[in-house]
Amino acid sequence: MDELSSFDHENRQEILLTPGPLTTSANVKKAMLIDHGTWDDDYKGVTQEIRGELLAIGKASPKAYTSVLMQGSGTFCVEATLGTAIPQNQASVLMIAINGAYGERMAQIADYYGITHIDLQFNEDQPVDPARVLDEIAKHPEVTHFAVVHCETTTGILNPIERIIPILNKMGIVTIVDAMSSFGGVPIDINRLGVDYLISSANKCIQGVPGFGFVIAKKSVIDKTQGNARSLSLDLYEQYRCFEDHDGKWRFTSPTHVVYAFQEAIEELKDEGGVEARTQRYKANEQLLRNKMILLDYEPVIDEQVQSPIITTFKYPSENFDFHQLYEFLKDRGFVIYPGKVSKIDSFRIGNIGEVYEADIERLVALVGKYDKSVIKSV
Ligand SMILES: *Cc1c(COP(=O)(O)O)cnc(C)c1O
Repeated sequence: MDELSSFDHENRQEILLTPGPLTTSANVKKAMLIDHGTWDDDYKGVTQEIRGELLAIGKASPKAYTSVLMQGSGTFCVEATLGTAIPQNQASVLMIAINGAYGERMAQIADYYGITHIDLQFNEDQPVDPARVLDEIAKHPEVTHFAVVHCETTTGILNPIERIIPILNKMGIVTIVDAMSSFGGVPIDINRLGVDYLISSANKCIQGVPGFGFVIAKKSVIDKTQGNARSLSLDLYEQYRCFEDHDGKWRFTSPTHVVYAFQEAIEELKDEGGVEARTQRYKANEQLLRNKMILLDYEPVIDEQVQSPIITTFKYPSENFDFHQLYEFLKDRGFVIYPGKVSKIDSFRIGNIGEVYEADIERLVALVGKYDKSVIKSV
């Protein structure tokens, strides 16, 4: 890791305190300066290497699991998974545990595809409750598939998938986890979870750039999904078969530069000491941010016990608070923060992930301290 990666002030590269795209290292950006062909054996080799590394990062045995890369943003992968995992018949019923915008998005995808779904709503500032999930599952024996978000990026809350997925797995329910903003930044043991599909993307905690996502899928389960897909380009089964049958060949044109950047990002994750070390760095960022912001009278939306190290949501400090002004103030000084997404509370978010260190957080909160939050919205 070199100094340039996060402190490139001469070129006025802002630090993105956002949950992806996020601040990447100089070497990740550099990896994109070469053009590559997609039919090339080296390129296919890189793809295969990445597929293997993703299994290792998620502690998924290569015997039982495969990883399938998919062009597009993270949502494309969620859509490909729901649209391929769930057969096109009336007998398939999806239960979705929802405590934020990304859970809602899965319900929206199910609507588009005409998938029968039961939505289990939880408060946005509360984690999904395993006892209630199991209760509802007992009340709905027709449920064949279950989906939940791991880190709900809406608030930064961490849902207790360890206390839900293994139980549903034993019951024979196909389980789908949107681990978009947690994979690589929070330890996940896929073997132990027994999860059938776990989804993430290049531009979150692995610290790559946007352009593709990936699904870690149980082979015995994805093997049974041929012909299920409602979309040609989002057919996860055919995408998987193409990688398997053609030595890492992507099915359609792939984001070559992004793939090379991702390979570099994985190397940097390993150099940092793996997922555990990265979690510690993100946690240190998060705790520093939370504590200093509280001192400045910015109150977090969720409890510390359920807070992930990924992103922190703060309430507006007053009714007339003008987020846009704070945003511009910080942007002028080199930091990009993120608007809120909580439906019932006026809030904004600050991400702790990416090529970001405690020194960056220190500088950010010093600036927030200088910002006069009594400046109100001009009418
Ligand atoms: C980022 C994210 C997604 C995907 O969003 P895209 O904008 O499609 O990349 C999905 N779920 C969660 C929890 C996320 O954080």
